[in-house]
Amino acid sequence: MTSSQDLAASEAEKNIVKAKAAPPEVRHARAPVSADSLKHRELRDGEWWRRLYPDVGEEEFLSHVWQMRNSAYGEEKLVDLIQGIAPDDFIEDLKKGFHLVPMAVRVTPYLLGLIDWDNPWEDPIRRQFIPLASQLYPDHPMLTLDSLHEQKDAPVEGLTHRYQDKALFLVMDTCPVYCRFCTRSYAIGVDTDTVEKVNLRVDPKRWEKAFEYIESRPELEDIVISGGDTYNLPAKHVRAIGERLLNMKNIRRIRFATKGIAVMPMKVLSDDKWLDAITDVLNLGRKLHKEVCIHTHFNTPNEITEITRRAMNVLFERGMTVRNQCVLQNGVNDSAETMTLLTKRLSEINVQPYYVYQHDMVQGVEDLRTTVQANIDIEKMVRGVTAGFNTAVHVVDAPGGGGKRDVHSFDYYNRETGVSVYTAPSVKPGAFFLYFDPLRELSDEIQAAWMDPKKQKEMCDQAIAETMRLRQNR
Ligand SMILES: *Cc1c(COP(=O)(O)O)cnc(C)c1O
Ligand code: SF4
Repeated sequence: MTSSQDLAASEAEKNIVKAKAAPPEVRHARAPVSADSLKHRELRDGEWWRRLYPDVGEEEFLSHVWQMRNSAYGEEKLVDLIQGIAPDDFIEDLKKGFHLVPMAVRVTPYLLGLIDWDNPWEDPIRRQFIPLASQLYPDHPMLTLDSLHEQKDAPVEGLTHRYQDKALFLVMDTCPVYCRFCTRSYAIGVDTDTVEKVNLRVDPKRWEKAFEYIESRPELEDIVISGGDTYNLPAKHVRAIGERLLNMKNIRRIRFATKGIAVMPMKVLSDDKWLDAITDVLNLGRKLHKEVCIHTHFNTPNEITEITRRAMNVLFERGMTVRNQCVLQNGVNDSAETMTLLTKRLSEINVQPYYVYQHDMVQGVEDLRTTVQANIDIEKMVRGVTAGFNTAVHVVDAPGGGGKRDVHSFDYYNRETGVSVYTAPSVKPGAFFLYFDPLRELSDEIQAAWMDPKKQKEMCDQAIAETMRLRQNR
């Protein structure tokens, strides 16, 4: 033991003694909480969108048709809308950013209205949807376009069968918004200056091939219906896909993946056809004793307003379970404070925090990635804040198709080179999956090494060799 470890050990001992010696009457006393710690209950209310849409009243703003029609799609519409409201140099920055990224831009009025246009550079909603030239970093050299190998693991186009009993069914390739950090930038949205996309159109014929495959595999029990976003799926298709899957003998669980509730809660309040379709699927599932639920995608507490609460109340009354999958992003939600607030606010509106993802290795969004260590630190701070079933598991979706792994479960992590190694014995036994921390968090020397193909290989080989050595010693 070094002397500093000695010191730490004796400090720790002292603390144990102190805890034991505490007088019984104060042991369970809790200080009164500050108003700040109840912030999760205060949701944004009033007509906050009027700054951007001065002539739009509540009724119009709450219509999903109006929201869809007025979504800012592409550069011109967005610039027109914020001209005179956002700072001029911000608009210049944005115009340059548009041409440098793989994702098309599309944002709902709901989200645009929530952005702080006095300081849009720092705003966590802006960061997720609107790229700025000044904030972009070059991609990590180890990054590939379909980093999760969703296409490689797809036996049928649009159906990824990676895990034994569950599969991911990509029914379409559009969303009510386009997130900069989308893992599926290989397919989602229209072609951009930098990427030509794979097509996954709404197409019952293509779906039928996926259904036949699902039926032919008795081990499949659980289907994620995703995209794109099932919010954009017409009601009749929601019903048809739901019924088709639930009526398969092997299927026990289905989930509809939609970011919609987070980006346009109005649809739940005003699109009765869609809501009734998904409720009918839920009720059919209940009759057949099969689970139907929605997985959604809130990333920051700012996205949750009184409108969201109203939408969630409707879904809750209908008996729908809604879980949340969020992505940890630099400058968006990468602090224990923000994640705690998000966790508690989701619980407040009856959304269960399910996963917090380490940001995938995706093109054009280096500015949004964090280190694995940051993720680990935040998880530790959040766990214990509220009910365990409302506390997300923090995961890395292992690049190369290893699937989701608990962020703490790395086999090896070199914080200097930023390489972490994960294994996935239940998914791909024997394989090693490497995740790479963003270069900007590493020393200048290591950043330079990553630019050198020979050293890249050395750093990866070192991580794998070390992983194997640690195993042998176990
Ligand atoms: C995430 C994912 C699933 C579902 O996994 P859960 O851990 O059950 O949420 C299924 N298939 C693929 C390919 C996935 O990426
Ligand atoms: S809603 Fe989901 S699929 Fe659509 S762009 Fe965002 S992350 Fe990608």
